[in-house]
Formats: sequence, structure tokens, C-alpha cells
Amino acid sequence: MTIHFPFDNTYARLPDRFFARVEPTSATAPRLIRLNRDLALQLRLDPDRLAGHEGAALLSGNRVPDAAEPIAMAYAGHQFGQFVPQLGDGRAILLGEVVDQDGIRRDIQLKGSGPTPFSRRGDGRAAVGPVLREYLVSEAMAALGLPTTRALAAVLTGERVVRETMLPGAVLTRVASSHVRVGTFQFFAVRQDVEGLRLLADYVIGRHYPQVAGSDRPYRALLDQVIAAQADLIARWLHIGFIHGVMNTDNMSIAGETIDYGPCAFMDAYDPATVFSSIDQHGRYAYGNQPRIGLWNLTRLAEALLPLLSEDQEKAVAEANEALEAFSGTFEAAYYAGLRRKLGLMTEREEDLTLAGDLLKAMAENQADFTLTFRRLSNAVAGPAGHEADEAVRNLFINPLAYDAWAARWRERLSQEPQDEASRQAAMRAVNPAYIPRNHRVEAVIQAAVERDDFAPFEELLMVLSKPYEDQPSFAHYAEPPEPHERVYRTFC
Ligand code: AMP
Ligand code: MG
Ligand code: MG
Repeated sequence: MTIHFPFDNTYARLPDRFFARVEPTSATAPRLIRLNRDLALQLRLDPDRLAGHEGAALLSGNRVPDAAEPIAMAYAGHQFGQFVPQLGDGRAILLGEVVDQDGIRRDIQLKGSGPTPFSRRGDGRAAVGPVLREYLVSEAMAALGLPTTRALAAVLTGERVVRETMLPGAVLTRVASSHVRVGTFQFFAVRQDVEGLRLLADYVIGRHYPQVAGSDRPYRALLDQVIAAQADLIARWLHIGFIHGVMNTDNMSIAGETIDYGPCAFMDAYDPATVFSSIDQHGRYAYGNQPRIGLWNLTRLAEALLPLLSEDQEKAVAEANEALEAFSGTFEAAYYAGLRRKLGLMTEREEDLTLAGDLLKAMAENQADFTLTFRRLSNAVAGPAGHEADEAVRNLFINPLAYDAWAARWRERLSQEPQDEASRQAAMRAVNPAYIPRNHRVEAVIQAAVERDDFAPFEELLMVLSKPYEDQPSFAHYAEPPEPHERVYRTFC
């Protein structure tokens, strides 16, 4: 008997031009590195069977499960501002969709399982390093509470892939609310395929935004929803110090999930200009530039949707502009609400924005670690200035006096808040993580896997990251920023 995947595919029912049917390439010696058992259960899959021999065959693409309809999705996209009319899944194959335990439809996709008609010059493969990074970071994001694609499994193929050096090949099984991107809309728009555009928009409304289906202007409402979802997502990225690294329009999900973990990274010392990605030479996707780029990408989505917004060109443009104008307000509301929570403020005062802004400014000037500053503030909040927990925050600043001056204002402001210290502290600890996938840790995990075939460091880091808001005294070192010699400046995809 073969392992049962309860597939219920809808994207594969769309017209042929939406995708290419393609079989995964088989792997010589698939070996399961990691199975996400909780996620398997959530997807109504049998984790015990997936962990066995047949599971490795299915999760590497060696065997296609019954009722799978493997396809590579077609999409276009702006890459670093340059429009490419045809990209598509060049190394990812959608096996199909399952409806999970909560009734949510999820794509199950193999990433790195061989070439597709969209591969262009690529080999359709993935190296183990990026697979482990995506596994770790996407699962960390889920544990942090952000909308994200998930990792169901990582499998070694037993083959080597050619990068700068020869590296072990691997396949990631990715789970997403869907893989429809801004670039999917651009694919039909650039072809002036209005019928395709409409089919796609109706599909997305049915799958992700059914609440707008009855609206008198459903496509405008769809645009509003995507803009709101992305504004909220990017605000959340900033709250936890996440840098996506390649916010091309083909890497922006219509469902509002973080997708396509390539050279992504978390910031250590706070600096809005932080860039890790080796391919981002001009800082287009720097930490602090993400809201602006988010709006730029959404403007491309609005342009693609123009033919659906109104038959009258001028009206369509007015609708698009009106929708886009909401981005800044939605983003700022989400961003500042989150900053208030990070500072333990439950009520709203106008001066809070200056208070938060001044802390960030002092952090930037004093190279204070972003994650630790807020985590330690969550400890310091329960005591007076000058006690041990307060010392721990001020020591993060090159010039601790910069912290002292700010902290006096913060304590003054907190004294006007209604709730008691204990509940304030609990609330702060629930939004200010202790553990994020710090780059030097991720790199060390990858190095152990590539050089020694050792996945124990990966397992340990993954476990620590599954409880980001809890103190884990035996793993306290994972909360620490890198020593100067451990610092990672560049990430590769
Ligand atoms: P990304 O930068 O990962 O979002 O990828 C951009 C485009 O390049 C997408 O169409 C990918 O499918 C494609 N691509 C990336 N890596 C490969 C690869 N190794 N082989 C084939 N296509 C790839
Ligand atoms: Mg086709
Ligand atoms: Mg991509």
C-alpha cells in the first residue's frame, strides 16, 4: 500500500497556460534529514509512514504519490526592478493541495526536485545549505507567529549539485497557503490575457479572500486585501528584525505569507541599512527599505489588475491609486502598534512614536543588538533603573548613557500605564523573542551538514527556535549575538 496524500487539487484544474505539467526528477539515494511531524499531522498525513523508506522516495520526488498532479506554475516578475515576462517554477514542483485539519487548503511543493520547462539556465536543483536555511528560518517565523510558508521535510538526494563548489543536493518540501504571487498576475497582464487575469483573480478570491466575493467591486476589494496583508506582514518583519533579501515581485505572496527564503537573515545590531544578501549590491532590499519596496511591488500588482478594475482606463487608474494610498497608513498603524507592544505600552499616546523612534536612534548610534535590547527591556521593565536587569540592557549600548537618558523617559511613560508590572512583563516577553535564527548559528549548522554530514547542530537549533519566547537556560548561548570573528556579512541563495 502506498502512503495516502488526501490531494484535492484546484490549481491544476485551471487552463493549461497557467502551468506546465512536469514529473519530478528521481534522486539516486534519497535520505530523509528531517520530517516535520506536527505539520504532517496538521496536513492529515501519516508521519510514521512518511518517516520510512517510502516517505523518502515521495519527499525526494522519486515517486509521485497517487492523486498528485505535478505542475510547475507560470509567473513573471520584477527582479531587482527589471521586468522578466516569464520566470515560473524553475526548481519547484507543486504536487497538489490538501485541505488541512483546520479546513485550510495548502499547497505541497517539492523545491529542488529537478528541472521544469521554466528552468532557463538553472539546474532545477537545490543545495543542502539553502534547504536547511529555509527549513530553519521558515519554521522559526512560524514559531514567532508570523504568516509564512512552512517546511514539511528536507531530504538529501545523494547527488551533488554544482555551485561555486560541488555541494550535497537536497529537496525541501514546502507547504503554503498557495504559491500565487504578484508575479503570477504580471504573467497574464503582460500577455494582455484579460481572461486569464480574471480567472486568476477569481481563483484567488475564492481561495484566500472569499469575504470579497460578494462585493460590488470584487477586484478592487481583492487589491485592498492584498495591500493590507502585505503592509501588516512587512510591519511584522520589522518588529523581529527580519530581512527578506529578495523582495522581487515573484517572491511576494498574494496570500500575505512570507515566501521564498533565499539570502534572508535576521539583523543583529540595529541598523536600518542592513543588507546581507550577496546579490543585493545597492541595498534595494535593506531592512529599512522593505516597506517602500513592498509598496513598489504592490504598485506593480495594481498595474497588472488595471484591466479588471474598470473598463474605463482613467477610472481604473484612480481605483488603483486610491487602493495604494492606503498602504502607508495601514503599514504605519501596524508598525507603531507593534513597537508600542514591544515597549510594554498598552495605551496610546502621541509621544509614543517619538519615544520609540528615539530608542531606535540610540540603538543605531550605539550598535545595540536589536533582539536582545527588546528582550532585556522585557526583563528590566519589572524593576527600577540601575538594578541588574537594567544593567543588562545598558551594556548593549556602546555609550550606556544614551540608554539611561532614554530609559528615564520610558519609565516615566510606563508609570502612566494602567496594568501591573507582572502582566506588562508577560506581555512584553510574548512579543520580544529571546531566540531568532541568528545568521552565524545558521551558517554553523550548514557548515556541519556540508563538511561533516552532521545534522545534530541543525536539530538543536531547530528545537531552540521552536520556543522563541521562552527562556531556555541550557541554550542561553543561542540568544547571544555573534562575536566579532563569528559575524556573517553575506548570505547566498
Ligand atoms: P528566486 O530568486 O529563488 O526567487 O528564483 C527566481 C527564478 O529563478 C524562479 O523562476 C526560480 O524558479 C528560478 N531558479 C532559481 N534557482 C534555480 C535553479 N537552481 N534551477 C532552475 N531555476 C531556478
Ligand atoms: Mg502549460
Ligand atoms: Mg522565487
